[in-house]
Amino acid sequence: MKFTIENKNLTKLIVLLIIVSLGSVLFELYLLNNYNKSLDIYKTQILNHYQEHYITTIYEHKRLSKIYYDEIINKETILSIIAKANTASEEEKTLLRNELYSIMEKTYNNATKNNFRQFQFILKDCTSFLRMHRPEGYGDNLSDSRESVRIASEKQEFTEGFEEGKTYNAYRFVYPLFYKNEFIGTIETSISFLAISKLIEDLFNHKSIFIIKESVVTAKVEKNLISKYYTNNLMFNGYYNDKEIIDYINKLNSINLNQILTTDTIINQINSLLSEEAPFFINTSNDGNGYAIIFLPIENLKQQQVGYFIFYQNDNTIIELKNNMILRSVLIAISWMLLMIIIINSYFSRLKINKLTYFDKLTGVYNRNRLFDYLSREIEMKKRYNNNFSIIIYDIDKFKNINDTYGHPTGDIILKETTKCVKNHIRVGDYLFRIGGDEFLIILPNTTLNEAITVAEKIRSQIEKNIYSINNINTITLSLGVAEYSNDDTYEELIKKADNMLYDAKNNGRNKVLG
Ligand code: GH3
Ligand code: MG
Repeated sequence: MKFTIENKNLTKLIVLLIIVSLGSVLFELYLLNNYNKSLDIYKTQILNHYQEHYITTIYEHKRLSKIYYDEIINKETILSIIAKANTASEEEKTLLRNELYSIMEKTYNNATKNNFRQFQFILKDCTSFLRMHRPEGYGDNLSDSRESVRIASEKQEFTEGFEEGKTYNAYRFVYPLFYKNEFIGTIETSISFLAISKLIEDLFNHKSIFIIKESVVTAKVEKNLISKYYTNNLMFNGYYNDKEIIDYINKLNSINLNQILTTDTIINQINSLLSEEAPFFINTSNDGNGYAIIFLPIENLKQQQVGYFIFYQNDNTIIELKNNMILRSVLIAISWMLLMIIIINSYFSRLKINKLTYFDKLTGVYNRNRLFDYLSREIEMKKRYNNNFSIIIYDIDKFKNINDTYGHPTGDIILKETTKCVKNHIRVGDYLFRIGGDEFLIILPNTTLNEAITVAEKIRSQIEKNIYSINNINTITLSLGVAEYSNDDTYEELIKKADNMLYDAKNNGRNKVLG
């Protein structure tokens, strides 16, 4: 027997499950892609942001240095002193230096409160005339050691940038000085990275440190001074910390970068990125707290990358993005599972309903409800392709007697066993229906009347020979009526023809085939 409809439903089920699963997978992939995109956008944004913060902070100091320059330094009194110093004797220079120092002292002290580190007056031949931060050191030529001063003197224009010094490193603003339209020297004002770090904290509430290449420090700074201004960075290979900032962070008891970067994996990752000398962003989490760490490469005036300015900041955005992604992904997975359960469940309940609706409970063969569908289909096939088909209707002879003699349950067993026997002797393409108490119908597609009669005869003789599990019941017989569908029969007419044959077989002594 065929189970075409059930097969079709199973195929439908599988296709539906595949579509739902594929949909879920696509949705998950979309989410992942979306998450990665958001992450990239966020990283770019945050890098730009911090870069702007750094630039803003430098700009603030530049503005302040410009005020000192415009309002105090670039004035007749000071300019005339520098102009004279350029041609003065050593003794005269000492007097001029002392005079300049006392004029500038108040301004310089004020500037240090604004985080300025150095004010240095330089003559037009690039020799240092007065260091406000170290008045005893003067007369040395800076053209080799101080690129900013060299450029400002040579081009006679404002020059700014980061530069390592013999002691300090600093961000420098160097202004050319003119007296009566003649270039007379330069004034250098500079700020430390602590100044930048402090202002960044004041303005934006980010923590920051500055690390500088060991090679840069050892090339420029006197050996005995290195430990005074720098400490070894134990995480980043080949870098020193700017000690002033570290001391400041420790003094405030603020969180240190090494308290955030606790795994070797992340430290190794950073070390490999440091060598690329480009800005980068790292996010990490520690005790459930997310941190954003931004590395901005710092170049000196010769455009050589010398260190990194590092911001670090409590930032849970990425953790939230990730959690959000995980939550959505779990929701999709749950929806997928629910859908699968609903689909599979509805498939099986439909299967169960189908079984109840279309199959006989006792014998397992089709019941009357399916008969109409299959007959209509065969009639359709006959009309379209002229495929002959026949039906057999059979009824157990004197079945009532079995019920009466052995009881109803025994009658049931006989019904099942005769059905099993019939099923074994029809073809795979034939359909067997129980259409009444002990009455059955077989549809035989592609079968003429004579062929159907042969089949019916075979069934009759097999049933007659069949051995039953009930003692005392040795022989069961069937009466069978056969009919072939002929054009323009309705299915009722076809059944009627076979039924009449069955009726005749009963009246002619039973255990007979008539067609
Ligand atoms: P005949 O040779 O003329 O067919 O005689 P019969 O005794 O078989 O008469 P008939 O076909 O009219 O009787 C069918 C009997 O089948 C009537 C009913 O009690 C019995 N029957 C119907 N359904 C069931 C069933 O599910 N189980 C059992 N055990 N008996 C059933
Ligand atoms: Mg009967």
